[in-house]
Amino acid sequence: MNVLLIGSGGREHALAWKIAASPMLTKLYAAPGNPGIAQEAELVALDIADHAAVAALCKDKAIGLVVVGPEGPLVAGIGDDLRAAGIRVFGPSRAAAQLEGSKGFTKDLCARYGIPTAAYGRFDNAADARAYVEKMGAPIVIKADGLAAGKGVTVAMTLDEALAAVDGCFDGAFGGAGASVVVEEFMTGEEASFFCLCDGKTALPFGTAQDHKRVGDGDVGPNTGGMGAYSPAPVMTPELIDQTMREIVEPTMRGMAEMGAPFAGVLFAGLMLTDKGPRLIEYNTRFGDPECQVLMLRLKEDLLVLLNAAADGQLAHVSARWRDEAALTVVMAAKGYPGTPEKGSVIAGIDKAEASGARVFHAGTAVQGADIVANGGRVLNVTATGRTVSEAQAKAYAAVDLVDWPDGFCRRDIGWLAVAREQG
Ligand code: ATP
Repeated sequence: MNVLLIGSGGREHALAWKIAASPMLTKLYAAPGNPGIAQEAELVALDIADHAAVAALCKDKAIGLVVVGPEGPLVAGIGDDLRAAGIRVFGPSRAAAQLEGSKGFTKDLCARYGIPTAAYGRFDNAADARAYVEKMGAPIVIKADGLAAGKGVTVAMTLDEALAAVDGCFDGAFGGAGASVVVEEFMTGEEASFFCLCDGKTALPFGTAQDHKRVGDGDVGPNTGGMGAYSPAPVMTPELIDQTMREIVEPTMRGMAEMGAPFAGVLFAGLMLTDKGPRLIEYNTRFGDPECQVLMLRLKEDLLVLLNAAADGQLAHVSARWRDEAALTVVMAAKGYPGTPEKGSVIAGIDKAEASGARVFHAGTAVQGADIVANGGRVLNVTATGRTVSEAQAKAYAAVDLVDWPDGFCRRDIGWLAVAREQG
């Protein structure tokens, strides 16, 4: 089978690496891809926002399955347009991708189906939102409704901060994404990421992870797309996974089907493990980046078999087996990230890092002559496995130290929570 992978990040490099290992694969294409993905796939020049052009390429290259990595194309309806052209796709429809594309949509679904989440109000004008914030008091959480690249959420510890966040949304800080605002109860607890592969009817549990959103050691500094992750999340016991399936994922699948938007693709639940049990923070409708990188290193199963089963509504007949090991990834970023990262610095030593047993996924890299150079904020994901998170962490950082890139940086404490748990 020929496969087209859409995307250009470390997540897609990990997917490409895993798909390329499948005996089912004839040829892998990727658009737009990156230099790491180019080691696994033929890159095709394609405007992925032009769905007719993507469909034409699929016909031309006899693509049997399109795998969509990022949320943007899904929310823009690439799944619908390709399916309408008779092309098989792994990824949700535009209507089902609202689970990520509209926080208000998800909150309303939770309210309707009794799914545990923070209490909330949903507003389309500043006056009503401000009045609600003043009634509820701080701490409180303000969220732009639409996609805002992880920047549309303010966890406000004071009333002033909360009111300023409300005004920012309605003053256009997030463009159309902030035209509607969700105001939420502040929850406390440990956070974990829980993934399922879904086919519209069945949700197959597909691993747990924990990420590190803040740029600095000790979880300080501005939010980023994610500075590292590990899997599994030790806090997600089998009992908590069962409870999450029963109380959160299964009612979501039922609700989406009843609303005429059955969910197929990756359902990524961001959870807060409160003292009253797991509560949904948010849904994403694709793999996390960098969580995908650690999941792919642990997955024993042929990924392409599972993605095909999801596309065909056959997930009830397959299972996912995992290596009994932990995986950990460290994101190496260009100096300046998450502000304005410097581009163009030369990166050496990736081969040495890989020779140590780690896997280095590319995110924002480019080829310049004979060199690999930085071409984005998050640039490399240095990923390793071990019997414990502590062992995976030691191997990943040993590999990071073999990468010769003076203009890059990383956190030095990825995995700290799990390592502390392991050390008792
Ligand atoms: P991302 O794109 O980074 O996944 P997002 O912008 O879609 O995030 P959320 O995941 O909803 O936003 O929130 C970002 C972070 O804000 C969460 O990981 C959590 O730490 C915090 N947060 C969100 N909602 C709440 C809440 N109700 N109570 C406490 N903290 C919250």
